[in-house]
Amino acid sequence: MTLTSSLRSPSLTVYNALMVKAVDLTGQTFGRLTVEERAPNRYGHAYWTCTCTCGATTTAQGTGLLGGKHKSCGCLKRERITAQATKHGGKPQTGATPTYTSWANMLRRCENPDNPRYPGWGGRGITVCERWHDFAAFREDMGERPPRMTLERKDNNGPYDADNCMWAPSVVQARNKRSAKLTPEVILRIRDLAEAGGGVKEIAAATGVDRHSVGTVMATIAVLS
Ligand SMILES: [Zn+2]
Repeated sequence: MTLTSSLRSPSLTVYNALMVKAVDLTGQTFGRLTVEERAPNRYGHAYWTCTCTCGATTTAQGTGLLGGKHKSCGCLKRERITAQATKHGGKPQTGATPTYTSWANMLRRCENPDNPRYPGWGGRGITVCERWHDFAAFREDMGERPPRMTLERKDNNGPYDADNCMWAPSVVQARNKRSAKLTPEVILRIRDLAEAGGGVKEIAAATGVDRHSVGTVMATIAVLS
C-alpha cells in the first residue's frame, strides 16, 4: 500500500475522529479559563464551556484553547484596551486610583511595544503573570499602593508577580534601576572621567552605570595603566 492510499483510507479518517474525541479538556486551565464541560459542537468543531477568573462563563473552541488563542472570556482584551487607552502622557486616568495607575503602567511597560518604556521592560523579557492581567487580582495580592511608594520587583530581571513584587519607596527604585550597559564607549567615558579626577559616585551619576561596575572598571584601568 502506498502512502497516498493509506492517507485516503477510511480507517485513518475514523482514527482521526477518535483522536479528536479522545482529547478531554475538562478541568484544564487555559489562562483565566477553566474548562467545565463539553459544549455542543459548532460547525463540526468541539466547543467547551469554561468559567473565567472574572466570574463570567463562556464557550470556546478546543483548538483555540490548546493553541493559546483563548485565554479569557474577553476580559483580558478589554483590560488591555483600557490600559492602552490610559497611556497618553503617562498621566493617571481621571478617577483612577494610584493602585490602578501602577497596574496599568506595569502592563504598558511590559506588553505594549508602542510604549516608550517597553524596551527596558517587555523588550527585556520582563513579564506580568497571568493572574495580574486582572486588576482585582493584582489589588488583592498587593493591596492599595501606599503614598510615595512604587511597584518594585525584588529581582530586577524577574517577572511581575506576587512573589517578586512589593510596594517600595522610590529610593529603593533608584537603587534597583538598571545599570547602563558597559559598551566600549561607556568604558572610555568612565576612563576619561576617572582621569579627570572624578569619583565613583560622580561617574556613576554621569554615565548611568551602577557604582559597583564603575568601581570595577576603574580598578581594571588602574591595573592596566
Ligand atoms: Zn473574564
